[in-house]
Amino acid sequence: MSHTYAFAPAPVATLAILGTDKLFPVSRIFCVGRNYDEHAREMGHTGEREAPFFFMKPADAIVPVGQPIPYPSESQDVHHEVELVVALDKGGVNLTVVQALDHVFGYAVGIDLTRRDLQAVAKKQSRPWETAKSFAASAPIGPLTLASACGHLSSGEIWLDADGARRQTGDLKDMIWNVPEIVAQLSKYFTLNAGDVIMTGTPAGVGPVQRGMKLTAGIAKLAPIAFEVR
Ligand code: MN
Repeated sequence: MSHTYAFAPAPVATLAILGTDKLFPVSRIFCVGRNYDEHAREMGHTGEREAPFFFMKPADAIVPVGQPIPYPSESQDVHHEVELVVALDKGGVNLTVVQALDHVFGYAVGIDLTRRDLQAVAKKQSRPWETAKSFAASAPIGPLTLASACGHLSSGEIWLDADGARRQTGDLKDMIWNVPEIVAQLSKYFTLNAGDVIMTGTPAGVGPVQRGMKLTAGIAKLAPIAFEVR
């Protein structure tokens, strides 16, 4: 006997893929915290190499290219964090660092939007980060470039401009945990699925966004992104 849904299920969030009309269906969004030394320091932490830690955003955090970013409610201090986004097309558990890159479908430029004021309160009170990190439209992400087209990324400039002024700069080679290490670590804790995406942490220079601001960002030779905050 087949069943029908009581109401229409939520739409599948997707990312565009350069060079094809196909869409990448997003399953989950994993995020890595404090993965660049200079950013860890600007947030008040020493840059010691501790094991990476993870948090998540729901798929409805995706803001596709061409859509504005709605300024979120209940915050007076929303920050931009430009990040390399890794998209997986194969699942797995307990992957080794050597196996990890076989699971990477492509790369994109993304922004981990953060209600910094709410995060500061959550940290102080040892509470979870969902209201700070996991709100709708908290992950504007550009189109994916296939790994088969751009190669696997381990170095290259990462930057973000706010209204044309450079705010964030760094280099992928300065990630404390590189992409294969992140995928391998994550697969110890979660059964990874095709469709999972990973935001790999932000370099220094995070700062507030304002309504009407235009955010542009890029990483190495990946397609740059541009989003307006409404
Ligand atoms: Mn982040």
